[in-house]
Amino acid sequence: MKPLSTFAASPYDIADLHLFRDADMTSASALLADCPVMVAAAGELVSDPAQPRLVIVLRGALADATGDGATTKILPGESCGEQSVLDGESDLSGLKALEESELLLIEADLVWRLIDESDGVARNLLRLLSFRIRAANMQLRRRQKLGEFYRQLSMNDGLTGLYNRAWLNDVLPRLVATAHGTRVPLSLIMLDIDHFKRFNDQHGHLLGDEALRTAAQVLAHALRPSDFAVRYGGEELMVILPATSGPVAAGVAERLCERMREAVVFDDMRLPLPHVTASFGVASLAEGQDEQSLIAAADAALYRAKEAGRNRVEVA
Ligand code: GH3
Ligand code: MG
Ligand code: MG
Repeated sequence: MKPLSTFAASPYDIADLHLFRDADMTSASALLADCPVMVAAAGELVSDPAQPRLVIVLRGALADATGDGATTKILPGESCGEQSVLDGESDLSGLKALEESELLLIEADLVWRLIDESDGVARNLLRLLSFRIRAANMQLRRRQKLGEFYRQLSMNDGLTGLYNRAWLNDVLPRLVATAHGTRVPLSLIMLDIDHFKRFNDQHGHLLGDEALRTAAQVLAHALRPSDFAVRYGGEELMVILPATSGPVAAGVAERLCERMREAVVFDDMRLPLPHVTASFGVASLAEGQDEQSLIAAADAALYRAKEAGRNRVEVA
């Protein structure tokens, strides 16, 4: 940056600077008279990490990098660096001239004198800081929501909306540990759509997807809020029933089996397609059993349901 003149010798008017709105201009003008006006070339870094100071844009524009790729544009009349002046920390490292700019620099000592001598300046600074805090909080909330959105996205299956394998790997071991720890039962139902390859072959893969979505809906609608439905892989789904004993889980599986065979799959023309059925295997957590062996037990029961003719429930 190159020095150009003092503020008193520059053509700029204090009334155009936001910080001095409704403030006592006469005393402020006297204090600002000797402050340097500097010129920054396009792209030049304006920050001086060693020196907290207020920067007011007189002409041109600055960009304040906020650290995550977002930038705030600071236009003529606006200021930046208030916070570093007030808390003595330098945080101007991301400040850059977007074009050739003329800037008024006010050293920290002088900012404090302006605050002492002018209620208007103090009020404007408070308002400005409050606005900055609000904007920062909003950005934080947006980022939290975005994080939550992506977390959800990575834990749910895109086609059916059910939980996916990543979710299962994360949560099932904990559910099993809780069940062992509290001696509360835990049951698991594995189900696999019957002759789904044939359904795909006859109606096409897209309608196969539709049938899968319908099957997922059957589960989603029939379960209690405390239960979980998971897409285990392909056309194999899983239901986890915390605090549910084997006989109760078998009843739930029977109900799901019935609803599955009654569910209607539509294609685009609202034409009902043949119903899909599924086979179910039920297992309950035994003492000392881990999640892998619980899944294997439900899977073995499911295999027996297939062997016995499909569209039915078998209990481990
Ligand atoms: P079974 O009654 O013994 O389970 O017979 P099946 O035909 O259902 O079993 P198989 O394992 O032979 O075939 C599974 C079929 O499921 C084959 C595969 O293309 C289909 N499939 C798996 N995932 C999807 C999917 O996301 N969309 C569609 N449309 N089909 C899928
Ligand atoms: Mg199948
Ligand atoms: Mg299968």
